[in-house]
Amino acid sequence: MISLGIAFALSNILVDDAYLDMIEASDLKRIVSFLASDELKGRNTPSPGLDMAADFIAAEFKRFGVKPGNGDSYFQLAEWTRGKKADQKEMGATVRNVIGIIPGSDPILAKQYVVVSGHYDHLGEQKLTDINANADRIYNGANDDGSGTAGVVEIARALAGEKPKRTIILVTWFGEEKGLVGSTYYVNHPIFPLKDTIANINLEQIGRTDDLEGPRVNAGSLTGFNFSSIGTTFAAVGKKMGTEISGHPTSSASFFGRSDNVSFARFGIPAHTLCTAFEYPDYHKVSDHFEKLDYENMAKIVKVSAATLLEIANAAGKPTWNKDEPGAARYIAAAEKLAGG
Ligand SMILES: [Zn+2]
Repeated sequence: MISLGIAFALSNILVDDAYLDMIEASDLKRIVSFLASDELKGRNTPSPGLDMAADFIAAEFKRFGVKPGNGDSYFQLAEWTRGKKADQKEMGATVRNVIGIIPGSDPILAKQYVVVSGHYDHLGEQKLTDINANADRIYNGANDDGSGTAGVVEIARALAGEKPKRTIILVTWFGEEKGLVGSTYYVNHPIFPLKDTIANINLEQIGRTDDLEGPRVNAGSLTGFNFSSIGTTFAAVGKKMGTEISGHPTSSASFFGRSDNVSFARFGIPAHTLCTAFEYPDYHKVSDHFEKLDYENMAKIVKVSAATLLEIANAAGKPTWNKDEPGAARYIAAAEKLAGG
C-alpha cells in the first residue's frame, strides 16, 4: 500500500497479518510468571535475579531469531555506580541492558531506528523485622514491569520474521526503579545514532485492567498522548484493531517523565509509554503477582503495539512533535539541537 502521508492514512499495516497471531496470552503468561517468580527475588539492580532475567530475555531473543543488538552480543554492559552508602557491596557490579534488532530491509531507511522497550528490573526484597519475618518479602513486579518486558519479548517473537523498512530495536532496561538508569545509560552511550533514532514506544504496566479509576479493558493509555504524532498513529491502529488507545486528561502528561521513554524525549526523539492502568492496587507492593494480570487483554495491547511499531517502521515520514502542545516545547527544542549538533 501507498502512504498518503496524512494522519489517519495507515500506510502499511495489515492488521490481520499472520504475525499478530504469534502474540499469545499463554506465552505472555509464561514469560511474566518466570520474571515475577520468587526465584528471581524481585530483580533488584544489581542482583543475581536481575542477571537471570537478562539471560532469559537474551535467550528468548536468540531463540526467536532476533539478531544481537550490540555487535555479536545481546548485552550492553555498564558498571553500577549508584550504590548508596549502605549498599557499598553493590558498587562496581556489572549490569546489562538487553538489546536485539530486526534489521531494516530498505537500503536507505534501514539506517533509521525505531525502539520498543520495557524495564526488566524491579524493587528486590523488602527488609523484614522480626515480628513479620515470615511475611512475603519479595517485590515480584509482575505488572511493573514484567508485563512490559514480556511485551517486548513477544513482539520480538512476532516481528522476527518480518521485513520492516526501518530497523527495529528491542530493548529491556536495567535500573528503571533506581531512576531510569539503564535507559539514561543507553542514550549517553547509544549503540545506534540518536540522530537516526526516530521513535521509542515503551511498555509499562500493560497487564492490569483494575485501574484505581475503574476497569480499563481493551484499552490502553499513552503518556504524552498529544505531544507527538505517535498518539494519533497509535489510536488509529488501535481503532482498526478494535482496541482504544487514548490519552488521559491528567495522567498522560504527569506520567510522561516517569518512565524510560523520557530518556529518549530529552534528546528530542518522539517517545511515549503505553500502559493499561496508571495506578493499580498492588503498585510497588510485594503483592504485584503474576496471577493478577489479564493475559487475554494484554495480548490485545501487545498486538496493537506490534502493529503500531511496524507502522512507524514502514511509514514514509518520521513521527513529529506537536508544535501546538505546550508540554512538548522542551522536546522540540531538544530535537532541533539533536538535528543541528
Ligand atoms: Zn515500571
